[in-house]
Amino acid sequence: MSSIPRLHAGDRLCIATHNAGKLKEFRELFAPFGLELVSAGELRLPEPEETGTTFAENARTKAHAAARGANMLALSDDSGLCVDALGGDPGVYTADWAGVPRDFNRAMKRVEDALQAAGANSPGQRRASFNATLCLAHPDGRDVLYVGKCDGTLVWPPRGDVGHGYDPMFMPDGYDVTFGEMDAETKHSWSPGEKGLSHRARAFALFVENQVEQG
Ligand code: IMP
Repeated sequence: MSSIPRLHAGDRLCIATHNAGKLKEFRELFAPFGLELVSAGELRLPEPEETGTTFAENARTKAHAAARGANMLALSDDSGLCVDALGGDPGVYTADWAGVPRDFNRAMKRVEDALQAAGANSPGQRRASFNATLCLAHPDGRDVLYVGKCDGTLVWPPRGDVGHGYDPMFMPDGYDVTFGEMDAETKHSWSPGEKGLSHRARAFALFVENQVEQG
């Protein structure tokens, strides 16, 4: 049970991100709840360095920096791809594997090259999961985490041009299409009482269930 009280329609919440794409996705997810969202980027808060070695550490760093800076409740998200045959890599370094500027075709090729080097050819040797950790932080230092995971298999070559990041090489369990071939509705949707498909949808469903008053 979280020690942070539930949010109600009209309450303000800072989304701890400087990433316009992530903010857009959060605005869509929060649309039904009538909260007043403002982002760390819009408030011109400094962007903290993500030096943690776990999703939880990085999510906490971002949420606490925003909660303190904005003096309001803040919600962050840290996510990534963990590949079993690579000992969980790229994990917290998922975005870094895409280099600067970000090139996710190169990032997917790097994963594929590492799988080939490890001799991982059969679907059973190519298991992976997408993971998302949400952190809700209070300016007084309290926080709570919600974790979502989606298991699947990595395919090669990449398939589909919907979505972003590593979507075209990730086929979630129970589907014969990749996230890159799936419409956003199928990937992210969830409804009260249901768990959703994507890692982010699953973490968000838990967050809403525990932290948001539903009319
Ligand atoms: P961060 O959470 O901003 O540190 O970045 C997470 C990275 O994981 C992103 O840059 C994406 O490359 C990758 N990622 C997270 N979720 C997804 C997803 O649903 N599809 C594809 N890539 C994802």
